[in-house]
Amino acid sequence: MARTHRIAVIPGDGIGKETTPEGLRVLDAAARRFGFDLKLTHYDWSCETYVKTGRMMPEDGLDQLKDSDSVFLGAVGWPGVPDHVSLWGLLIPIRRGFDQYVSLRPCKLLPGVATPLANRTPAEIDFYVVRENTEGEYSSVGGRMFPGTDREFVSQQSILTRTGTDRIIKYAFELAMKRPRKKVTSATKSNGITFTMPYWDERFEAMAKNYPEVKTDQFHIDILCAHFVQHPDWFDVVVGSNLFGDILSDLGPAVAGSIGVAASANINPEKAFPSMFEPVHGSAPDIAGRFIANPIGQIWSGAMMLDHLGEHEAAAAITTAIEKLLAEGGPRTRDLGGQSGTVEVGKAIADAVARA
Ligand code: ATP
Ligand code: MG
Repeated sequence: MARTHRIAVIPGDGIGKETTPEGLRVLDAAARRFGFDLKLTHYDWSCETYVKTGRMMPEDGLDQLKDSDSVFLGAVGWPGVPDHVSLWGLLIPIRRGFDQYVSLRPCKLLPGVATPLANRTPAEIDFYVVRENTEGEYSSVGGRMFPGTDREFVSQQSILTRTGTDRIIKYAFELAMKRPRKKVTSATKSNGITFTMPYWDERFEAMAKNYPEVKTDQFHIDILCAHFVQHPDWFDVVVGSNLFGDILSDLGPAVAGSIGVAASANINPEKAFPSMFEPVHGSAPDIAGRFIANPIGQIWSGAMMLDHLGEHEAAAAITTAIEKLLAEGGPRTRDLGGQSGTVEVGKAIADAVARA
């Protein structure tokens, strides 16, 4: 019997509704070509749902998703619905509820995509940002006292647990072990943040002892950001706390070029819960409804999903098809200087995967 993967599909809002079908088209081609089945369940959860029902997803939303192997998401967010509603009504409950403690973003310059950095070639920008996704600086521990008076003060604590710190750093080392350069860079700020960051450094050094083949280094977050721009070729796998990882995981894909091609994953590596795969871009209200959005970020996220599900060959076939399409001047959307629509690009990549 063929392997079956159960996928919960949430297209969401705006261009998410246009890119998700192209992601599915390519996944379907990969399933046929590499001999596995995808059992899809569609959910129309979105800002439209919110406007109609007052909720982004039903109260038992997580229960509905929990038996799937992965969640494949388009984008959520729409003008008129505050960002925190779409974030806290859908994305955060899924990430936290399913303990997706790794946020993973490839920062890879694809051929034929313009990078804002001058004279950089694809071989020079090819790294991953690994962000801790559950604790750290984004704790809700803190408060405000004496509001509106001269004595007013606010505080918010960073929480690093040993479990939380070790597991994200371990993930970064495991990822590096699968890559040819085998190198992990740690984002720190132990010169200014004097309790949590020295602890982070300590746990990083302890973990490094388990991986003698992996080269390591560390930079303070400020200079690290500068290095992303000036020396992107230095990096292979970069690991950071929730806040530092957040910053780096926007900067990294940005140095690798168009927002339309960037992919991301929210992973529970132990597979105790479903992981979630989504493009980096949002719902892009300014171009939604015209089928001109670039579907590559979505399609690449689909490749990351297949990799997570153990379909490594199929995942590689998709990324190869994307790179070939771009290198060989295949159809491309306007953000990459072309004239083609979303569907045409999706079909071209699906065809290439079918012939892989
Ligand atoms: P978020 O919802 O994450 O806050 P945002 O509202 O900041 O995102 P996006 O929705 O990603 O931003 O859009 C930012 C800009 O990038 C817009 O001008 C949008 O048209 C463009 N853009 C985003 N995704 C794509 C895509 N797939 N193809 C082409 N252009 C895109
Ligand atoms: Mg937005």
